[in-house]
Amino acid sequence: KHWPPYNFSAGPAMLPKQVMEQAQSEFTDWRGKGLSVLDFSHRGTDFTEIAEKAEADLRQLLNIPKNYRVLFAAGGASFQFAMVPMNCLRNRAVYVDTGIWGSKAIKEAKQFGQVDVVNALSERDGLQAILPESEWGIEQGFDYLHFTPNETIGGVEFSDAPVVGRGQLIADMSSNILSRKINVEDYAVIYAGAQKNIGPAGLTILIVRDDIIQQPAAQSAPSLMRYSTLAESGSMYNTPPTYSWYLAGLVFDWLIKQGGVDVMEQRANERSQKLYQFIDKRSFYANPIHPSARSRMNIPFTLADESLNARFLEQAEMAGLHYLKGHRSVGGMRASLYNAMPVAGVDALIEFMVEFERTHG
Ligand code: PMP
Repeated sequence: KHWPPYNFSAGPAMLPKQVMEQAQSEFTDWRGKGLSVLDFSHRGTDFTEIAEKAEADLRQLLNIPKNYRVLFAAGGASFQFAMVPMNCLRNRAVYVDTGIWGSKAIKEAKQFGQVDVVNALSERDGLQAILPESEWGIEQGFDYLHFTPNETIGGVEFSDAPVVGRGQLIADMSSNILSRKINVEDYAVIYAGAQKNIGPAGLTILIVRDDIIQQPAAQSAPSLMRYSTLAESGSMYNTPPTYSWYLAGLVFDWLIKQGGVDVMEQRANERSQKLYQFIDKRSFYANPIHPSARSRMNIPFTLADESLNARFLEQAEMAGLHYLKGHRSVGGMRASLYNAMPVAGVDALIEFMVEFERTHG
């Protein structure tokens, strides 16, 4: 059996079909201007209109208060691993480590000051879980607490922001932003690489509280790596990734028309529950994460017989189910189910998995 191609990659992820079609229809001639968005000057009125609408729509989607600035930066989320400590680490920061992305952020932060690391992955009932906050042993008086709400590689997700450090939280929301309701006021900084739930790779969205922007960055921080530079220039200190910004705007518009973050949250729950329930019923497939910490976005799974991995991936590709290979550090499979993934994509994957088990189990 063959399905319309579905992209299960952890990123770059699929964009909504309607967004692709709109971008296609406007590609050579944006709204009768005779020019493509690719041609637009980032300082011209047309691009300004695009940029402002994208920001306004994101503000509406996440209910971003007035005392937070939205910044559109380049460099990917990894760039923020350095920008965060450059701008916010004065004396001591706490980093909660629940996987590979958190560890990478820690590695960068350590170059800028004292970093207290909380190893928050623990075992519960033979599965991986997030250690309860009461056992983190955090010493108060830190500049900020950094965590990764959704660890894309391990498939570990927080169901809510930590209580400790609310108001001083810095979150790498790359792989679950806009997929569940959040209270922006819990955070000092939110950042997210765009290539999963927002748009094309290369763009990073930041939501930064005013007082964080006003505090001085590390003296050695390059201009472009200071939040204040981006904020004062309206994210146009240099040429921003204009086309990615435009596409992100189309995605935000699509999200609003779909019913916003509430609807995305319901769909994420539906998609992920379907797949977890299926995996849990079979001994042929397994997921290593405790139900309390399971990601709704990235679902790693293994086959009981690992020697079948290559065949599984090959046949999935042939059936139109792409990029199911797990991260190289983990192995096995991983199905990433971001906002643009229809429930039909999960149904197709489950049908494929049933058939694969029937013929190889
Ligand atoms: N943080 C998380 C949670 C991620 O999933 C990723 C990318 N998969 C990154 C950071 C790195 O993003 P980028 O490649 O945009 O630097």
